[in-house]
Amino acid sequence: MAAGGSTQQRRREMAAASAAAISGAGRCRLSKIGATRRPPPARVRVAVRLRPFVDGTAGASDPPCVRGMDSCSLEIANWRNHQETLKYQFDAFYGERSTQQDIYAGSVQPILRHLLEGQNASVLAYGPTGAVFSTLFPGKTHTMLGSPEQPGVIPRALMDLLQLTREEGAEGRPWALSVTMSYLEIYQEKVLDLLDPASGDLVIREDCRGNILIPGLSQKPISSFADFERHFLPASRNRTVGATRLNQRSSRSHAVLLVKVDQRERLAPFRQREGKLYLIDLAGSEDNRRTGNKGLRLKESGAINTSLFVLGKVVDALNQGLPRVPYRDSKLTRLLQDSLGGSAHSILIANIAPERRFYLDTVSALNFAARSKEVINRPFTNESLQPHALGPVKLSQKELLGPPEAKRARGPEEEEIGSPEPMAAPASASQKLSPLQKLSSMDPAMLERLLSLDRLLASQGSQGAPLLSTPKRERMVLMKTVEEKDLEIERLKTKQKELEAKMLAQKAEEKENHCPTMLRPLSHRTVTGAKPLKKAVVMPLQLIQEQAASPNAEIHILKNKGRKRKLESLDALEPEEKAEDCWELQISPELLAHGRQKILDLLNEGSARDLRSLQRIGPKKAQLIVGWRELHGPFSQVEDLERVEGITGKQMESFLKANILGLAAGQRCGAS
Ligand code: ADP
Ligand code: MG
Repeated sequence: MAAGGSTQQRRREMAAASAAAISGAGRCRLSKIGATRRPPPARVRVAVRLRPFVDGTAGASDPPCVRGMDSCSLEIANWRNHQETLKYQFDAFYGERSTQQDIYAGSVQPILRHLLEGQNASVLAYGPTGAVFSTLFPGKTHTMLGSPEQPGVIPRALMDLLQLTREEGAEGRPWALSVTMSYLEIYQEKVLDLLDPASGDLVIREDCRGNILIPGLSQKPISSFADFERHFLPASRNRTVGATRLNQRSSRSHAVLLVKVDQRERLAPFRQREGKLYLIDLAGSEDNRRTGNKGLRLKESGAINTSLFVLGKVVDALNQGLPRVPYRDSKLTRLLQDSLGGSAHSILIANIAPERRFYLDTVSALNFAARSKEVINRPFTNESLQPHALGPVKLSQKELLGPPEAKRARGPEEEEIGSPEPMAAPASASQKLSPLQKLSSMDPAMLERLLSLDRLLASQGSQGAPLLSTPKRERMVLMKTVEEKDLEIERLKTKQKELEAKMLAQKAEEKENHCPTMLRPLSHRTVTGAKPLKKAVVMPLQLIQEQAASPNAEIHILKNKGRKRKLESLDALEPEEKAEDCWELQISPELLAHGRQKILDLLNEGSARDLRSLQRIGPKKAQLIVGWRELHGPFSQVEDLERVEGITGKQMESFLKANILGLAAGQRCGAS
């Protein structure tokens, strides 16, 4: 594997890409840098890559179903209306003639610079696997890895990043830089270390700052591209690759290459920064009804789909601003927690194929890509102080060794710090201010906090030395503590908000449960209306009138159980009087079946607009239903609605309750 182009050339390209990104002249829309101290948002960027026909010809029997319109948009035939096309707009569209260098320079290279700012970045290659009797290789691995002749994103990014870190970390520069790599795969919801395959399933954890960690994952230092290849090539052979009926070379696991850039400041205040780059070749999305998978393959495919399905749910939750984002529901999303709606600059490259027989897979991939485009990240700089700069805690450990050992244990950088500053004499205003000048390179906000703490201590008549007069190392420890407490408070605030939202949702549910649904025991075909009559009678009333008109009534109103009153006639209905009554309805099985069938037909054939005509279905749910249908095919029963992300079992029941009678009645009217 070798990335093409000379080093000089690459450096020029990187500089140009960064300049274009900064000036906004790049083809991708860039986030605006706000003036607030909150990290500026960076929308997940989405590029679509259309691969060429694999045999190089577009044969008349299978003309392409996708057409690029410009560098950002494409159109695809509309299967519902052949006169129309569906148009999609992305941050970038790469047509079948685009080269590996086009994709790299246009969409990946510009985000690499953020790693040296201590921020995270991720590149995900997404794409479908295909349907039964046909193979679909949309080009995910080609995009990420490529071949020796056409190296992909991974070798190009590594080559540039290593070059950049060598330059930035050279002797005499303010920061020392080091790069490490880890390589893992997520296979059947297990995290496997490809650099150490014997290590088994690893756990994913989150530290108090929200960073995602995998304790025990191998981390190899790399300082040259040869180092990288030495670890990467044998590890790639450890990847779990299976053969399905549809795709002989289908990679059935998500492959994740993690490259960390660690920076340590050579002089005071000895900051350290860490930037993580995830390069991910996702397993293809599969539809088991079409792949013919069985046994282990079905289980594998289920696990792959779980991860991708949850990825879709995460994207939807982020788009809708829901308080709970289900990152923890799959390993992939847990790992990507700080890349999607988190702290990273992310780019999703959706790979699609031009062949008409993959039309449905292509539409699904495009729909997923379009949804991902709306996700907003908030990248921030992952910066802290180097442990040795945090003074007393570390020092005391070293002091335990005695003076000579302690000196040996100290690194050369620590030697530069020298002994702690002598205790300042107490507190005149000018004496207090002088240490500030030595801290001039620190974050002003941190100093402001320190000053207010100082004032607080002084106002409480603290016996101890004022903070700004304490030795430098202790000040650093105090500042670090303040910073950590701030983060902890932020985290608790977020948690509190989540809990409040949960409570509200629970209350709403309880309220709903308080009035048992009119059609809850669907399977029994006898239903109890326990809602206040004022609301619940709306639909039954139409039916009652219908019943009165028809001798073969299919709906019978039975006596009110709660108050042992019998409804004699419709005229006897007096809303005020009966506002709290509960009635039992008996509905003919045929009528219910009609209602269910009508709902099913609408779910499978209705447009988003048709769906909105149903009770309890707003524009968002209608979109979710249409999206699910496009991804998974038709609903086989109305209860499948519960499988649509964003629709709970309770909502499904209440939806049925609200619609089934109305539609059944419509069916009768229509039939008569
Ligand atoms: P996937 O990983 O999505 O299953 P691959 O990347 O393995 O698909 O692609 C299968 C084959 O198709 C590769 O061997 C590659 O030669 C070819 N291919 C894919 N995308 C392109 C492309 N954009 N240009 C040229 N060849 C491609
Ligand atoms: Mg592949």
